[in-house]
Amino acid sequence: MVTTSTDLKALVEAVGGDRVRVESLASPLQDPHAIDLKPGPIARLRTADLLVRIGLDHEPWLTRALRTAGDRRLVTGSPHYLDVSRHVDLLQTETPRLRESGAAHVHAFGNTHYWLDPENARPITRDIEAALARLAPGDQAGFGANRRRFLARLDDRLADWQLRMAPYKGTRVVVVHDSWPYFARRFGLVVVTAVETTPGVGPTPATLATLPQRMKQAGVKVLIAEPSSNESVVHQIATHSGARSVTLISSVGADPAATDYLALFDTNIARLTAALAGGR
Ligand SMILES: [Zn+2]
Repeated sequence: MVTTSTDLKALVEAVGGDRVRVESLASPLQDPHAIDLKPGPIARLRTADLLVRIGLDHEPWLTRALRTAGDRRLVTGSPHYLDVSRHVDLLQTETPRLRESGAAHVHAFGNTHYWLDPENARPITRDIEAALARLAPGDQAGFGANRRRFLARLDDRLADWQLRMAPYKGTRVVVVHDSWPYFARRFGLVVVTAVETTPGVGPTPATLATLPQRMKQAGVKVLIAEPSSNESVVHQIATHSGARSVTLISSVGADPAATDYLALFDTNIARLTAALAGGR
């Protein structure tokens, strides 16, 4: 089976257990919107029983990969194709669908980073369970039991994460890429703005010049970056605004400790609470 991200790989494994072998097309440190697939992963699309993707315009590179693979099974409506965005309540669906010429515009159909709210693992794994059961009906009961166990562990961890984030409710943050609206909503943060005013496009000189002052005025003390963020931009904004920058990971495996979906949040909550408390 093939997923477009390591997060979806982790969730398919949580439901599929030892009945599935899963590979992610994207590596966790890359910008998920801008993947350049090698022939190897494209060939694996041809032999995959199931392709699981985030959907919307999250993976603009997948269309080209599917065309190159030339596989007619991996299309909407096929049992071999699963877009897990279908039962998620999306944020930012009112985004104006304007495209500047030549700009790699993403998030035009709603924000695609919905796996960063742990509650969304519920509808995502429900769809995964149904897709796996369709392909292997004999294993249906096992998939159901795996999912229930996973969600019980998730509920447990979520209570702990929320407890640790409770002191910071209402804290204003600025993000580099707008990956965090679902995460922020779940954990009580307020995202004031994104450095990338057009998602997927680097900041304009005007943004770089005015943002640090605006952050000071708004009392923003924390800047959230990601492994694929431009380090000099992050450094420049942090220095001029006096905010602390913290690198959160948006995918499983981007930190060696983030070995699965629950550990992804363990890692981010640890990094974030350290930054919010004033450490680094
Ligand atoms: Zn994005």
